[in-house]
Amino acid sequence: MAEIRLKNIAHSYMPAPAGEQDYALKPMDHIWEDGSAYALLGPSGCGKTTLLNIISGLLRPSDGHILFDGDDVTGRDTAHRNIAQVFQFPVIYDTMSVRANLAFPLKNRGMDAGAVQARVEEVAALLDLTDRLDERAAGLTADAKQIISLGRGLVRTDVSAILFDEPLTVIDPHLKWQIRSKLKDLHRQFAHTMVYVTHDQTEALTFADKVVVMNEGRVLQVGTPDELFERPAHTFVGYFIGSPGMNFINATVDGTIAHIGEQTLTLQNVGASGPLQIGIRPEFLTLQDSDADGIDCTVQSVEDLGRHRIVRVEVAGQGVTVLMPEGKPIPSGTARLVFDPKHTLFYRDDYLVEGAA
Ligand code: ATP
Repeated sequence: MAEIRLKNIAHSYMPAPAGEQDYALKPMDHIWEDGSAYALLGPSGCGKTTLLNIISGLLRPSDGHILFDGDDVTGRDTAHRNIAQVFQFPVIYDTMSVRANLAFPLKNRGMDAGAVQARVEEVAALLDLTDRLDERAAGLTADAKQIISLGRGLVRTDVSAILFDEPLTVIDPHLKWQIRSKLKDLHRQFAHTMVYVTHDQTEALTFADKVVVMNEGRVLQVGTPDELFERPAHTFVGYFIGSPGMNFINATVDGTIAHIGEQTLTLQNVGASGPLQIGIRPEFLTLQDSDADGIDCTVQSVEDLGRHRIVRVEVAGQGVTVLMPEGKPIPSGTARLVFDPKHTLFYRDDYLVEGAA
């Protein structure tokens, strides 16, 4: 396994980029720690595959350097980076048996037959493939073929890292959950450095120790699932993580008072003043009918999801979402919107104001 360091990496697919807008990947520094499991999460087109291909050596970055354990590998191709990759679609030999497919990466490296057999059986057991080892790959379903591709990615123990590019796309939804948990177990067992690309937040949050959130070619935050939920560093992370996403309410802050339209909200420990966005997750807002501390809002719609209800309200022309647990009464018409001060954050120009509550 290896620590992977990206030093001032940037990439443009254009031969003569004129400015930042021409870069698919804006300049970034990042360290992928040895033995950690990372998810690279972001919407379509944000640069995830570009970044993964730079790590694997399929793509040479326009700028910057890549170091594996301090060794500069920027000029090396994939074959010379000692990396295993699992792609969106199965990459296996149809004419070979499942066993031969799993053994291939090991035989290729000259491992002795006994060790190959032992390792193939170990990986097959972990992926529930033991009973299928002697079947021909050609007859298998797309799901099973992709599981063999995962096995081929996991079979070598001597790789610097294993890179996964949306590996569960072709897997049946009910199997996805099982495979994701299995990958997590395998990571615990073998402690490979893993980088897993996905645009699915559930996949990212259940798989990874740390999630790297990207948008428009930029890394906006690297954090544990908890950190991304509790303290999004950027408004995009707040929207993208959580369902429904975080609320951002435009306000003008003066001392401990926020002016929202005509109303005022008393705050604790803002650490900034002027035009800000108040960031609060729907889970940390409640609706009451009384004159509790908070601001007035108008209830617009209620969506019942069983265990809780999603209530859309309006405050000074701005839409706000509140998550109300089952059983709590929801006022109709005008209600009081109450903020949990421990979970009220402040953003300036989309970035978190540090030092606030
Ligand atoms: P997806 O989830 O859809 O795969 P992604 O986050 O992996 O998206 P990339 O595929 O890395 O994003 O693309 C980032 C940007 O670079 C996009 O604007 C894309 O159109 C552009 N791009 C990607 N590959 C090329 C290429 N070979 N030539 C030119 N532009 C490219």
